Amino acid sequence: MFCRWCTSNLKNRVIDTYLKRYKDEGYVEYIGIAADEPKRIKEKCYPLVNWGMTEEDCLKFCYDRGFTWNGLYKHFDRLSCWCCPLKNLKELKILYKYYPELWEQLKQMDNRAYNKFRADYSVEELEKKFQKEENKKC
Ligand code: SF4
Repeated sequence: MFCRWCTSNLKNRVIDTYLKRYKDEGYVEYIGIAADEPKRIKEKCYPLVNWGMTEEDCLKFCYDRGFTWNGLYKHFDRLSCWCCPLKNLKELKILYKYYPELWEQLKQMDNRAYNKFRADYSVEELEKKFQKEENKKC
């Protein structure tokens, strides 16, 4: 099982440390979870949930105001760190196919790491797998 070291250390801990400063004054923490992500709702404030805005509504809201996410949502259903080892195979294949420079960087990082990118595949192994799948299509 993956331990989300990055989420706890680089995100949650940083936010918690910051918020501690305002402990005495009190504060409201707003979280941008959409209305169609009910499993992620806990005990904080979720304005998008209150407004009934789904992920699709939120994306449309952004597009309508000219924020295009540089076309990333044309390829991906969800966005996360580009080098996230928790990406599923579909997302990794998209990275391989449409973002070759990032894929190359990922391969280099994996080659320098002491362990494989994923328990089941290194980035090079994934590349071979994706190449094979692409060649089958021809
Ligand atoms: S997207 Fe992946 S790499 Fe990025 S913080 Fe979340 S778990 Fe970590």
